[in-house]
Amino acid sequence: MTTDRRHPAGFWLDTCGDDLTPRPSLRGNDVADVVIVGGGFTGLWTAYSLAKNEPSLRIVVLEKDIAGWGASGRNGGWCSSDLVSPPEAVAARYGQDAAVAMRSAMVDTVVEVGRVCEVEDIDAHYVRGGTLKVATSMLEAERLRADLETSRHFGWTDDDRRWLDADDARERIAVDDMVGATFSPHCAVVHPGRLARGLARVVERMGVRIAEGTTATAVGPGRVRTERGTVRAGVVVRALEGATGSLRGHGRLLLAVHIHMGVTEPLPPAFWDAVGWREGEALSDMRPVFVYAQRTRDDRIAFGLARGHPHPGSLTPTYVVPTAARALRATLSRLFPMAAGARIDSLWSGYIGMSRDWFPSVGLRDGVAWAGGYFGDGVSTANLAGRTLADLIAGRESDLTRLPWVGHRWRPWEPQPLPMVGVAGLFTAMRWADAVESRTGRPSRALGLVERLLPD
Ligand SMILES: Cc1cc2nc3c(=O)[nH]c(=O)nc-3n(C[C@H](O)[C@H](O)[C@H](O)COP(=O)(O)OP(=O)(O)OC[C@H]3O[C@@H](n4cnc5c(N)ncnc54)[C@H](O)[C@@H]3O)c2cc1C
Repeated sequence: MTTDRRHPAGFWLDTCGDDLTPRPSLRGNDVADVVIVGGGFTGLWTAYSLAKNEPSLRIVVLEKDIAGWGASGRNGGWCSSDLVSPPEAVAARYGQDAAVAMRSAMVDTVVEVGRVCEVEDIDAHYVRGGTLKVATSMLEAERLRADLETSRHFGWTDDDRRWLDADDARERIAVDDMVGATFSPHCAVVHPGRLARGLARVVERMGVRIAEGTTATAVGPGRVRTERGTVRAGVVVRALEGATGSLRGHGRLLLAVHIHMGVTEPLPPAFWDAVGWREGEALSDMRPVFVYAQRTRDDRIAFGLARGHPHPGSLTPTYVVPTAARALRATLSRLFPMAAGARIDSLWSGYIGMSRDWFPSVGLRDGVAWAGGYFGDGVSTANLAGRTLADLIAGRESDLTRLPWVGHRWRPWEPQPLPMVGVAGLFTAMRWADAVESRTGRPSRALGLVERLLPD
């Protein structure tokens, strides 16, 4: 796989330790029991669960570039119990019990990813160190308190998420100007490149065929067309997330949103002595443009921001925009003034899939299965999707197949350019709100605009 400075693969794929030479492509027509389109976490976890449950199945994964080349090899590595739709949104559609069941399935999923890494010997740097969400202003603290209150409403106790005053929070991670934080144990961090590439090797060993450099052009019951031939199969799985719109007839299902991440150079022992961050915590804050970060195994900070740019689904951008670097640097200096001069060693981007109603979905209908719409929360959700799809494909009723997102029907996006304009407006309003808030310490009126622009 070749990458250049404008389209970098990013730190995780660069350091995954795997040979990124593409596996052989599809050559002509083929037949399988299950054909999976997309070699990211969704496709690979689905292949894993299917092959584990039914080793005799003939499974083919079709991947346009290489396994892990999409968001799965480019993310923040938060393997968290968060779902893109918060429990109150799940409850509003499907009821309180469904929201509680969904959350508890996500909590189990965080553990499940670690279990598989262990038993399959995938050295993905998995550490279940929890999430520290920090507040650096009274406004952020109010939001944190409100979030905590909501967790209580859905059955979470202090064991699941608790308030930390500033001193206790600093014991974990000494973020500058912190006024308080919450801690939840239900999150792990991973090296996503090692997880994606390791998982690909594991499923291959189990007999799954991964055809890389193979672009699907049309997906329908019983077959997938590619530029290199057609694969016929009893079940077709669509696992393309942000690239879903590149398939004929799927342009309005999921919008591709382009987001960036960076990683610092390794920071010196003096920095870590001062900051702590020893337990593998995933770190975030409560600003309108929030940060998500982890300390890497080699003492860097890998981090990204909730800033995005929508793209029509047919484009799946991997280029880097210069403003992203400035925004990341400003965040680093704000949270950790000691790291203000640190070099950003790698900056890259990827794309995520956003559904019109901000709700993820997994399902199987008329021989075509799908999963996605995770937005920025796909690392663990894709594992849950894989296990759920394996049950659905086997025709097995289970606790997983009864979860509320199963069979959830996405409302299609409006024709372009409306989604592009609306979602670009949403991200701009978030940036305005963030800027006003950091200048004045007060909520910005742009937040009202954010509320209005959020997909319903
Ligand atoms: C910068 C960034 C940070 C993120 N941070 C986090 C985080 O910390 N925690 C979290 O939970 N989530 C995070 N996410 C989201 C998470 O990475 C995704 O939700 C998840 O990886 C989606 O997995 P997937 O397999 O569904 O999609 P992808 O990983 O995008 O896989 C789709 C695959 O399909 C391939 N493909 C595309 N078109 C075709 C075609 N026509 N034919 C065949 N193959 C095709 C692509 O090359 C790709 O490999 C982040 C995403 C990004 C980009």
